Amino acid sequence: MIQPDKIVATTCPFCGVGCNLQLHIKDNFIYRVTSPFDSIVNHGNLCVKGRFGYDFVYHKERVTSPMVRNVPQKPGARTQAFDRSEWHTVTWDEALDTVADRLVEIYRRDGAHAMAAYCCAKATNEDNYLLQKLYRSLFRTNNIDHCTRLCHAASVVALQMAVGSSAMSNTAAEVIQNDVFIVTGSNTTENHPIIANQMKNAVEKYGAKLIVVDPRRIELVNFAALWLPEKPGSDVAVFSAMAHVILKEKLFNQQFIDDRTENFQAFAASMEKFTPEYAEQISSVDRNLIVEAARLYANAKNAAIYWALGIPEHSHGTANALSLINLALLTGQIGRPGTGLNPLRGQNNVQGASDAGAMPWHYPGYQRVDSEEAALKFEKAWKIEPGGLNRKLGLTTTEILSAVGPNGVRALFVMGENPMMSEPDLNHTRHKMEQLEFLVAQDMFLNETSSFADVFLPACSWAEKDGTFTNTDRRVQRVRQAITPIGQARADWEIICDLARRLENRLGRPTSSFWEYTHPSQVLEEMGSVVPDYAGVKYARLEIAGLQTPVLDDNHPGTPYLFSERFPRGRGKFHPLDYNPSAELPDEDYPLILTTGRVLEHWHGGSLTRHSWLDDLYPEALIEINPADAAHLGLQNGDTVRVTSRRGSIVLRCKVTQKTTIGVVFIPFHFIEAAANLLTNDVIDPQAKIPEYKACAVRVVPAEPHELVNPQASQPRGRY
Ligand code: SF4
Repeated sequence: MIQPDKIVATTCPFCGVGCNLQLHIKDNFIYRVTSPFDSIVNHGNLCVKGRFGYDFVYHKERVTSPMVRNVPQKPGARTQAFDRSEWHTVTWDEALDTVADRLVEIYRRDGAHAMAAYCCAKATNEDNYLLQKLYRSLFRTNNIDHCTRLCHAASVVALQMAVGSSAMSNTAAEVIQNDVFIVTGSNTTENHPIIANQMKNAVEKYGAKLIVVDPRRIELVNFAALWLPEKPGSDVAVFSAMAHVILKEKLFNQQFIDDRTENFQAFAASMEKFTPEYAEQISSVDRNLIVEAARLYANAKNAAIYWALGIPEHSHGTANALSLINLALLTGQIGRPGTGLNPLRGQNNVQGASDAGAMPWHYPGYQRVDSEEAALKFEKAWKIEPGGLNRKLGLTTTEILSAVGPNGVRALFVMGENPMMSEPDLNHTRHKMEQLEFLVAQDMFLNETSSFADVFLPACSWAEKDGTFTNTDRRVQRVRQAITPIGQARADWEIICDLARRLENRLGRPTSSFWEYTHPSQVLEEMGSVVPDYAGVKYARLEIAGLQTPVLDDNHPGTPYLFSERFPRGRGKFHPLDYNPSAELPDEDYPLILTTGRVLEHWHGGSLTRHSWLDDLYPEALIEINPADAAHLGLQNGDTVRVTSRRGSIVLRCKVTQKTTIGVVFIPFHFIEAAANLLTNDVIDPQAKIPEYKACAVRVVPAEPHELVNPQASQPRGRY
């Protein structure tokens, strides 16, 4: 038995559950991961990623020295360079001076609108706070966003519109206090495995009734009292029909509506047409199931709604989320333990990156950039002349890439994100990446995006730095340095500060001590000074269990559930709704609906999990297809197929399974060899600017195994 030199408590770097980890270290090497039984988030339980997926830290392909491309890249002729021989290593001074010189040259020539940065939901609160501060204070642009735009942006917008807050209202572990709960657009077992365990526990041990509303027969259906197998994109019809039933049968909470809400009459009138029969025509869900679900939810003492990306990732994602919020306001199932509106956040720190201001319309703490009051506040805090900060809303991730061109965005800084995997319609994304004049990548690996860069800045993994993550239920938790950085890698926050100091000099901005932090705890304190919800979040208070925001001062205990007395916007606002179909519906040429998502063993663009032995567990993309559709196409399990949409085509093997409903196919989006986002539609929700990842029309035809990009990949494992 190995005796560790030390055991370091930290937080899982993968999903938004935020499980507590103990890294066992021997000779600066992580050899084991455990979790304490009394850990507040996960009670000692971990999924396969948290328990075993840390070996990416030591992967041979990791880049640990700063690098510059051998051949200068030109707009329009920019290429990818995965081969290290196309790069040469440089010192940190050379790399950062090159970045500073080029960024300042482009900024001086073209102005603030030419500058843009992608923050990162994998990085810490401190890393994200500093990168948005750098771009806002030094380049005077709000063109700063991160992958929240590609996941829960519509949930955030809808929640802000209706209640004035955008996080999970309740604590995930409160699911055992639910009498009834709805899970929709969330394959929780694969995406938030520990929360899924708590949900199953709620059903089996505590007698809660689960309603699953999902086009796929996900594992949680085995635990559900009701499964409503809707067609992708029909959420507004199904949930508004539930509201219709609640209104008709007078199951609503009049007292709550009178005391806490507004706009009820207009909303109620808009629900008239959403009869269960009408919803059945749109969604294919049996009208009786809709009635039963409405009664179960409305009559429960405590009921909650949990959702993930199946709700927001639509061209009408904001309306989808509003249809859920309307239900909670109608029944008063919010503001108490065991109730609430709970968007399950995907990445480990997507909540924190959003809180830290890594978004184009908001300073840290969701304070609008077009609010004069907020701008003046941040000018004072960041020692910027009055009027110096840009009051114009910045570009979102998808807009940043669309704006790349001669009079648009010219220079892009990408910290840890991989838009060449995560954006919709990747052929379009590639074309735009090629047009950039200057690209900086701050990452651990040469991935599909960083391989396009001019300069590569090697960043530490989560195990090599200090910081904080904020998990899906608003718990700010410590990330602790467990090993010394590998090679010359540096913590993201250190790289940003070093670059900022060089930029200050070149730009002639008044130099300040604002980039002289010696520890990320100072950054979090600064963030707390401008974000009221983080005012009492200090490292010393996060030692044991973290704190759930809002934490309003140094003595505030944190907030397990929100809205007990009032909503941040005052009254909760009902929103009248109409049903709008997905932008692309099946037709003769493209007869199937494609929906995309994650699998348990992988995580997002795959930069980390595909550099881990986890890749051996799930080595290739599989398209899931219903047996009836497979029979129609003459396909058997493991056959090779070509999937084509109006934007692209990929080849992969198929898994014939009842998990998908007839007419719907599913592809995970982690695999560059069969990148699902070559197919997806970049049409966006007009309010949240989120793309429609969850529904596009495709054609599936048999193909030959030699057409696979990676024909050596192992056979399908038949896991489902
Ligand atoms: Fe990590 Fe999420 Fe798995 Fe927990 S459930 S171990 S946070 S990946």
